[in-house]
Amino acid sequence: MNDTTYMWEAIKQAKKAKTINEVPIGAVIVYEGDVIATGYNIRETSQTTLSHAELIAIKQANQVIGSWRLEDCTLYVTLEPCPMCAGAIIQSRMKRVIYGAPDTKAGCAGTLMNLLTDDRFNHQAEVSGGILEMECSSLLTDFFRELRNRKKNE
Ligand SMILES: [Zn+2]
Repeated sequence: MNDTTYMWEAIKQAKKAKTINEVPIGAVIVYEGDVIATGYNIRETSQTTLSHAELIAIKQANQVIGSWRLEDCTLYVTLEPCPMCAGAIIQSRMKRVIYGAPDTKAGCAGTLMNLLTDDRFNHQAEVSGGILEMECSSLLTDFFRELRNRKKNE
């Protein structure tokens, strides 16, 4: 399986967020070719700052692997990680990070800055962006358009 195949899995997670009116962002973590953890944004539902897709997936992967170290894992996420998630990615020693759409407001994997490749930290991850970018970003733009229309009609 290649990066695109796994990104479709992350998109599936993002769509789960959308069904509960959450901003559609999804993530999966892959280890030795298997998806071992999944997550999607539940910030509104949980009213928890920490409930980003990536952090939910990282926590689950920690449980599956039985370690805080995810050094042989790859994270696929539909939106470029924010500073909080990029920090957790570094802490987890994640090997690779593949994201879909860039985030011009919070992206810390290359857009605003790149925390994942900064060699002043003790760990760096390989980063690739723009995988299924159109699919990932249209999920978000459609969601916000529908939200605006719904508000207008209220
Ligand atoms: Zn985040």
